[in-house]
Amino acid sequence: MENYENKLSELKEKESYRSIKNIEKRISKYIIVEDKKMLNLSSNDYLNISTNKDLISEFIEKYKNNDEFLFSSASARLLTGNSKSYNLLENDFCKLFSKEAALLFNTGYQCNQGVVSTLFSKGDCIFSDKLNHASIISGLKLSQAEHFRYKHNDYDNLEKILKEKRDNYNNAIIISESVFSMDGDISDIKKLVELKKKYNCLLMIDEAHAFGVFGDHLAGYSDEINLLNEIDIITVTLGKSLASMGAICLSSKTIIDYLINKASSFIFSTVIPPVNILWTRFLLEEKFDYLINQKEKLNSLFNKVHKIYPTISSSQIIPIIIKDAHKTKQLAKHLQNKGFYVLPINPPTVPSGTSRLRVSLTADIDYNEIEKLFTEIKNATFLAKQ
Ligand code: PLP
Repeated sequence: MENYENKLSELKEKESYRSIKNIEKRISKYIIVEDKKMLNLSSNDYLNISTNKDLISEFIEKYKNNDEFLFSSASARLLTGNSKSYNLLENDFCKLFSKEAALLFNTGYQCNQGVVSTLFSKGDCIFSDKLNHASIISGLKLSQAEHFRYKHNDYDNLEKILKEKRDNYNNAIIISESVFSMDGDISDIKKLVELKKKYNCLLMIDEAHAFGVFGDHLAGYSDEINLLNEIDIITVTLGKSLASMGAICLSSKTIIDYLINKASSFIFSTVIPPVNILWTRFLLEEKFDYLINQKEKLNSLFNKVHKIYPTISSSQIIPIIIKDAHKTKQLAKHLQNKGFYVLPINPPTVPSGTSRLRVSLTADIDYNEIEKLFTEIKNATFLAKQ
């Protein structure tokens, strides 16, 4: 036991210790922590749907007598956990993303880990952006395929590795997020498509932070730039913009069929409850115009921020890089005292020496609230350096 205590002390010394916060309430763009109401700038509820009581009441009223209004599936999909809505949800996603087939996973983590570890085995290789999410990295580690991590969004570096390594393997895949979760920058999907064709690879894009935020069909950044058809595997999580739970992998019928047969994180896990699937479908099918409206509000907000602060970010996620972990914590605390709920992000979540505040914008936030935050940050830099 002492060993673990020492390890925890080390984490505390490195400012990398994590603890679960007591959150009292989330109300749209606000959060209440320790009796203090703050603007929530740390949420992935990008469209501000998750606490919308009108939508929740309408949903309950309409679906409370539905056969699938159940809080447990009590089983995995391949046993007795399946019902009509799950298949309909997958069809909805095929339409949205113009893909042949789709498969629901319980979380984005299980989805990425399952897809990456299952599809590639001995003799194959994976080329993965260095800043890809932990779930992709976990998939790389579980997979028996060789993997190479290229420098973040550096396609010269990727091509150099592809040139050297690609021919030594059978199947190969390039994997990138579209909007990066901790940096808010966007991968050059057009360039990735060019490279995947040139070096005969598949291309997988994780649209976790772009689904609901970009694209005419809300189908992420590949949709925004009309490249959905060129991407072989797309993953999206439903717990962020869509204020629900679960994740979807979209691909060809063959790949989805293979995942159904081989992906452990799909096969051996009780599927999320039917009521949750009804809720996701209610939002997508019956509230699509509302989602689009919220998406447009969010786009206007971050476009305005980008126009005034051009180098700050390319999306709704704004990293304020402080570098030093202790100062980052100090600044976060200071901003919380001023009514802005921003959280420090420290290693190992981000590379060492890049500690930051991760500000995420949501649809109902006003521009002047962000201007006030930036003023506080400017004024507090000196404070943080003491
Ligand atoms: N992919 C990315 C890029 C993420 O940021 C996350 C979650 O933070 C996930 C996948 C995992 O999604 P979920 O929270 O549904 O497990």
